[in-house]
Amino acid sequence: AKSEGGNRYLFFNDSMNKQAVKRLQIENLIRHGLKEDFFTVYYQPKMDIHTGKLVGMEALVRFITPKRGIISPGTFIPVAEETGQIVEIGAIVLKKACQDVKNWIDQELFHGRVAVNLSAKQFMLPYLCEQIDDILQQTELPSYHLELEITEGTVMQSPTIAIDTMKKLRARGVHLAMDDFGTGYSSLAYLKQFPLNTLKIDKAFIDDMNTARGRNMVDTIVTIAHNLSLTVVAEGVEEKQQLLQLKQLRCEVIQGYYYSKPLSADDFTQFLRQQQPQ
Ligand code: C2E
Ligand code: CA
Ligand code: CA
Ligand code: CA
Repeated sequence: AKSEGGNRYLFFNDSMNKQAVKRLQIENLIRHGLKEDFFTVYYQPKMDIHTGKLVGMEALVRFITPKRGIISPGTFIPVAEETGQIVEIGAIVLKKACQDVKNWIDQELFHGRVAVNLSAKQFMLPYLCEQIDDILQQTELPSYHLELEITEGTVMQSPTIAIDTMKKLRARGVHLAMDDFGTGYSSLAYLKQFPLNTLKIDKAFIDDMNTARGRNMVDTIVTIAHNLSLTVVAEGVEEKQQLLQLKQLRCEVIQGYYYSKPLSADDFTQFLRQQQPQ
């Protein structure tokens, strides 16, 4: 029994070790990727649920290496968040998204808003507002074309500071969306105090809409959002049935594979051209 315990300990230790090695490998891969410029941005359309017309898009980072192909955000974002590399990645995404949207606006292909995800570390940067000012100035993008998506988890880390930062961003004309709503722990009392424009319902809730209980849940979230005068975006919409149900529940905007997967900037340009009235 004693040796068994010893083995268990060894096994546990070994798996912890493997995880640490994996994490270190990803950290090195990210460092290399930053040096070689392997980070790029894809865009997923957000559509008006009633007209089916494009109202905006979400910028989603892609890490594409010649050797390994696409490395999923689910793999590298948690590591980048831990190591702090997310700050540099985030700045790249922000700048690229503003540049691309400025181009689409100049070509009269688009006049809405691009939504960029902000990580917790990025959101907490003391120079966040200045960084955003700089990027908007460099890219000559008017601030009202930018929306920032911040998760519940991020703002709840220190709600008072978060409210302050959010107010500063709003004062610049930037829009704010609460991302992955329902997966964190923000109380209604706080939700009321956050100066938000939009609330994004997490895909997990949309997936649950095949049950009455799930639909009730989405109904409740939409009602709360509307009571706070927020626009509701449903993410991860894949089926026509979900679209119809969301329309009934008065959700305004949908995003998901039903309309389109995230597209490269070139493919998104094509998508925009198809959107133009002929
Ligand atoms: P998110 O912000 O919730 O983004 C939505 C994710 O759902 C994206 O995954 C998108 O590709 C995926 N998605 C959209 N519609 C559908 C659908 O109909 N079906 C399915 N199965 N999936 C759908 P992605 O691009 O892999 O990103 C995953 C997460 O990584 C994002 O979740 C976000 O939390 C994070 N992320 C992505 N880009 C950035 C970034 O530039 N900065 C930061 N800080 N985080 C990012
Ligand atoms: Ca998001
Ligand atoms: Ca989301
Ligand atoms: Ca999500």
